[in-house]
Amino acid sequence: MVTSTDTPSAQSPTEQPPLLGASLDELTTWVQQQGQPAYRGKQIYQWIYQQGARSLTDITVLPKAWRSELGSVQVGRSSIHHQVEAPDGTVKCLLRLSDGQVVETVGIPSGKRLTVCVSSQVGCPMACDFCATGKGGFLRNLERHEIVDQVLTIQEVMQRRVSNVVFMGMGEPLLNTDAVLASVRSIHDDIGIGQRNITISTVGIPGHIRRLAEHRLQATLAVSLHASNQVTRESLIPSARSYPLSELLDECRDYVHKTGRRVTFEYILLAEVNDCAHHADELANHLRGFQSHVNLIPYNPIQEVDYGRPDHRRIQTFVDRLKQRHIAVSVRRSRGLEKDAACGQLRASQDLAMTGQR
Ligand code: SAH
Repeated sequence: MVTSTDTPSAQSPTEQPPLLGASLDELTTWVQQQGQPAYRGKQIYQWIYQQGARSLTDITVLPKAWRSELGSVQVGRSSIHHQVEAPDGTVKCLLRLSDGQVVETVGIPSGKRLTVCVSSQVGCPMACDFCATGKGGFLRNLERHEIVDQVLTIQEVMQRRVSNVVFMGMGEPLLNTDAVLASVRSIHDDIGIGQRNITISTVGIPGHIRRLAEHRLQATLAVSLHASNQVTRESLIPSARSYPLSELLDECRDYVHKTGRRVTFEYILLAEVNDCAHHADELANHLRGFQSHVNLIPYNPIQEVDYGRPDHRRIQTFVDRLKQRHIAVSVRRSRGLEKDAACGQLRASQDLAMTGQR
């Protein structure tokens, strides 16, 4: 254990979790525990969030002797193992975490916007039938710094500021709520992205949307509904068996009531499965008078299953049907399709990571 000689109560630097994701206050307290003046906290803060420091040795303004004492303390940056760019400018990065696991993160430019689609878990336990991530199983939750890192990485790779963050990469955010909320705080306060430009997407875990409402976030909640009735939903999403549609919608209503924020409902369009006129009508009936917005996602193909992506005419008919019933609706443009970087196409595969063959 190495500590400063003049601070007997100093905490061992080895006990310190990675610094990324820490607030200015936390960093200030920490440097003081190490016997350093408070302003060192601000220096570290600026270097990790603004200058892209990847290790404490990069922070050249810190005294050399102290830097070497802190040798084992990590900033918490992941390394980019592989990177691909789709013809539409979407960039997908395969990130290697400190334990060798890999996750994917995607940067999606669109005019003045740059959206990062972040992962919250390595793999995903939800196993939704149409989603590539679920096919690979679940490995572990991501930690706060591993989520924040994805935003900084895309900023660096694309050399511009990120404007929006969506938790729509690998994993189910509400099964990792603590780290997700801690990263939302950091993405907002430390990186400077407005909470209203942050979206947390969930397939719905019983009781968790209600709990999330207590935090009264300004971030947008997106709920992956994907079906207009319980039977269809269960056929697509295994966890729906223990979460009736009516209960999920009740929790969403409570969420709107508590937070004053409308909920987005994501609805994947699978040809002939959930995209018929009667499905649109059924969906509209559920959402009548509900402060919400429907985001339709035409299916992005994955290898393992044989769903079809509806053609433009079918999509437009579905949209029109909802609009006639006064439901706010938009269609998500698929980005990064050519490089398997679109919604539902992300996966954690060690083999692919090793060979870089994406
Ligand atoms: N687990 C969270 C977030 C990850 S998925 C959730 O389910 O919401 C982000 C969005 O992509 C979800 O709406 C998800 O259902 C959708 N998606 C998954 N697979 C897809 C596919 N093959 N084509 C289009 N969208 C897909």
